[in-house]
Formats: sequence, C-alpha cells, structure tokens
Amino acid sequence: MDLSYGPKYEAFREEVRAFLEGEKHNAPSASIGLSEGSGQVRDWQKKLVEHGYASRTVPRDYGGFGAAPDLLENIIIDEEFRRAGASRGMANQGISMFVPTLLQYGSEEQKRRYIGPTIRGEMIWCQGYSEPGSGSDLASLKTSAVLDGDEFVINGQKIWTSTAREAQMMFALVRTEPDAPKHEGISYLLVDMKSPGITIRPLVMMTGQAGFNEVFFDNVRVPREILIGRRGQGWEVGKATLIHERNMLGAADLTESTYLGCVDVLREFGVLDHGVYRDRLMKLAARTQAMKYHSMRMLTDRLKKRPPNAAALIMKLNGCQLNHDIAKLAIDAMEEVGTLKRGSRHARADGAWQIGYMFQLGLIIGGGTAQIQKNIISEIGLGMPREPKAGTGTLSRR
Ligand SMILES: Cc1cc2nc3c(=O)[nH]c(=O)nc-3n(C[C@H](O)[C@H](O)[C@H](O)COP(=O)(O)OP(=O)(O)OC[C@H]3O[C@@H](n4cnc5c(N)ncnc54)[C@H](O)[C@@H]3O)c2cc1C
Repeated sequence: MDLSYGPKYEAFREEVRAFLEGEKHNAPSASIGLSEGSGQVRDWQKKLVEHGYASRTVPRDYGGFGAAPDLLENIIIDEEFRRAGASRGMANQGISMFVPTLLQYGSEEQKRRYIGPTIRGEMIWCQGYSEPGSGSDLASLKTSAVLDGDEFVINGQKIWTSTAREAQMMFALVRTEPDAPKHEGISYLLVDMKSPGITIRPLVMMTGQAGFNEVFFDNVRVPREILIGRRGQGWEVGKATLIHERNMLGAADLTESTYLGCVDVLREFGVLDHGVYRDRLMKLAARTQAMKYHSMRMLTDRLKKRPPNAAALIMKLNGCQLNHDIAKLAIDAMEEVGTLKRGSRHARADGAWQIGYMFQLGLIIGGGTAQIQKNIISEIGLGMPREPKAGTGTLSRR
C-alpha cells in the first residue's frame, strides 16, 4: 500500500516548510490562547491568513486565502506546523464559529464588513447565548429585542459569556417574537459591546482566571440591519454556530500535541517505563489516535459533502474528556510538582498542565454538556428512542 501523498502534495509540503523556515522566529511558540490580541499574536495571525495557513478556504473577496477545501493540504499544514512547534494562529469564537456561520447566512454587506477584520484577529467576538436558566434548554431564552423604528432595543441578561471583556462584538440569540413557539421566536443579532446600556461583570473560575462574564442589557439599541438571517430564523442560524463550536472544541491536532507534551513530561520525570503510567499512557495514545482518524473521516465526509450527523458531537465529547485525562496523567507523573500552580518557579510549563486540567472540566460543560451530547449521539447516531420531553419544549442545546 502506498501511503505517500504524491508529488503534488510533497511540493506543497516543501512550500509550508520554506514558509516556516523563514518565519518561525516570528511565531509565538506555544498554542495561542482563545483570543489574546498581543502584537506578536496578531502579526502572526495576519501572516498566516495572507499565506493561506489560517482561514485558508475563506473567499478572497472577504479577506481570506480563497483555497478550495483540500483534506491533504490541511493535514500537511497541521503536520508541518506541529513539527516546527509553531502556532497555527488564533482560535477564538469569532474565527471558528461566527465566520463560518456568516458565510452561510450573512448578507454580502455583512460578510464584507466583518469577516476580514475577524480572521486577521482585529475584531474579537463573544457568544451571547446562555442565560440564567437557559443553558442546555437554550431555546427557553428570555433576553428580548423589540423593534423600535430602525433599531432593536435589547433587555435581559446573558451569562457564562467567554471573552466578553476583550470582545468588540457579540453574536447573540434574542427573543424578537414573544408570541411565537419558543424555537420560532428567536433572532440572531450582532451587538457592539461598547453600546450604551451594556454592563459586564467578570466571573472567576477555579483556574483563578476570569474567562467568562455576566452581561446585562438595559435598553441597548442596535441597528436593525445587524440581524443575521431573517427575523425568527435565529434558532436555525444559532444551531449552525454550535456545530462549528463543537468542531473547535474537539480539535484533534491540538489534542495530539497535548498528548505528545504529556509523553515528554513522563520522560522528564522518569516514569515513562513505569508499568502503571505506561498503561495509562497507552490507553490515552489509543484514544488520541482514534480521535485523529475520526477527525480525518469527518474531513473526508465534509469534502464529499456528506452531512456530519453525530460525528462532530463525538469529537466534542471525546476531545474535552480526553484533554482532561491527558492533563491528569501529566500532573500525576509530576508528583508534588503537579500541585504547583502558575507563578511557582518550580511549576512546569508555567502551570499550563494544572490550568488545562481545571479548564477542560469546564469545557466538558461549555458548548453543550457531556450528558446532552450523549443524549443526542444516542438518538441521532445510534437511533435510540428520543428522550421524553419535559414541559412544553424539547430540551437541550442542540
Ligand atoms: C468554560 C465555559 C465557557 C462557556 N462559554 C460560553 C459562551 O461564550 N457563551 C455562552 O453563551 N455560553 C457559554 N457557556 C455556557 C454553556 O454553554 C452552558 O453552561 C451549557 O450549555 C450548560 O448549561 P447550564 O450551565 O445552564 O446547565 P444546565 O442546562 O442547567 O444543566 C445542569 C446539568 O443538568 C444536565 N442536564 C440538563 N438537561 C439534561 C437532559 N435533558 N438530559 C441529561 N442531563 C441534562 C446537564 O448535562 C448538566 O449536568 C460556557 C460554559 C463553560 C463551562
């Protein structure tokens, strides 16, 4: 069996290598956080977009590279960036979730206005979906937007809004048709975070970071043309965003590099050949490989225009749990050093393993909890009987 990619792709690999050879000194070394906008991060992001190593298939008219989807090119880029230890660029909610949604549902004017600055990292977005009491049962959301002349007036509260303080803009689900059935009364609006009437309150997580926030709307006015899709179509548009969120949360290449980092930790702490650790490591290796090949199968499906079905949910569910388990093994292998937090001069990787361990627990909830993912996988993936409905509406962030 010939497993080589062939001359065309090997030439492409050389191109990627030459880029990295020439530019690696400009690259932020670790994987870039969700939204950090430091000068170096943004410069690197712009360079990646310009050369087609980020937002590669976004059309040129909207500031992307305009390449046709190509599974092998993507794999080669991943392989070469990983080999060079170079960051693949920013991975925030704007780039990974909002841009693909806008490509699908946005007007021409909206695409031209927002996509370029977003993929270059100049415009940061936050996701205004969850509310107190409307997380898994997202369609029960209550934040209202009432049309007044040419503006929507928004009142209500969002919660768990990641990066709300760094963001310039929010893509939000709001109730515009209070008398319609709950899934049909929602619209997808864009909100400038500097609008008068918005108050943001940070929520501190157990990592010690305040990654997400409460956002309050008190008569916030936004122009009506900032609606994505039609009035009342928000549930459909919002669900498209959630599919992209799940893809983002289960990135196989990031998981594989985290796994390889864990192997290094076991080696450094002298337990790579210890039976118990090795057994745990091998189980994680098998799960990481399974996830990698699952993601390749998903890419193939995408190229062949087959619907994703339960595949993206499996990525999200497995990816968060697996990353948590990998961090757990690394921390155990470090013994007492494993309990040291960021700031201690003895902590490894500036406490990234400890933070990862705690943060991944949150991601098992964020973007749809593990229980909800399992429900949907069992229903649409395995064809099991549907969960009984509670109250009047279907449950779940689906
Ligand atoms: C790290 C992180 C980042 C986040 N970022 C954002 C963001 O940027 N923007 C945003 O809008 N939201 C964000 N969220 C919110 C997130 O999407 C919600 O927390 C999630 O959808 C769950 O909703 P909930 O917290 O209201 O829990 P609930 O829906 O109240 O669920 C509580 C528990 O009950 C279980 N449960 C509920 N219904 C069922 C059912 N039918 N069957 C089985 N079990 C069930 C759940 O699985 C869970 O264990 C974030 C959350 C986290 C943790």
